[in-house]
Amino acid sequence: MRILVSACLLGLPTRYDARSKANRRILELLKDHILIPVCPEQLGGLPTPRPRCEILGGHGWTGNERVVDEFGNNKTENFLKGAEIALQIARLLNVDLAILKSKSPSCGKNLVYDGSFSGRLVPGKGVTAFLLEKNGLKVFEEDEVFVNNNDLL
Ligand code: SF4
Repeated sequence: MRILVSACLLGLPTRYDARSKANRRILELLKDHILIPVCPEQLGGLPTPRPRCEILGGHGWTGNERVVDEFGNNKTENFLKGAEIALQIARLLNVDLAILKSKSPSCGKNLVYDGSFSGRLVPGKGVTAFLLEKNGLKVFEEDEVFVNNNDLL
């Protein structure tokens, strides 16, 4: 399979703090699948390292919220641009599914931070996860993809 993957899950130092979040089980998928790393926040023009960002409103992205950094600067356009380029890459390479990093304001699929920068998680999606799903791509969080002894769904 061709799988779009959050770049930080593959050990690439793309996170806001310029660190990675390598996931061993995801890396092992390289044996049998083609993994295509994308970092929507970098694709959207944000620097690394960068201030933390969260989605205002307390329910993640549904299409109309604002994404701000911890200093209150509006970064919504960067998040939208990055999501759109990630979707373009997914289409260009005809990927079968996406595996994304949990809790990120871009990549989170089930939970995101609530916009108060207090560490509180709420049900909701990041901008890229939302856009990919809206366009028909199967999206999984990093821990959702495995069933019975590492079989990929
Ligand atoms: Fe990882 Fe996604 Fe954040 Fe980029 S935007 S660092 S890929 S979680």
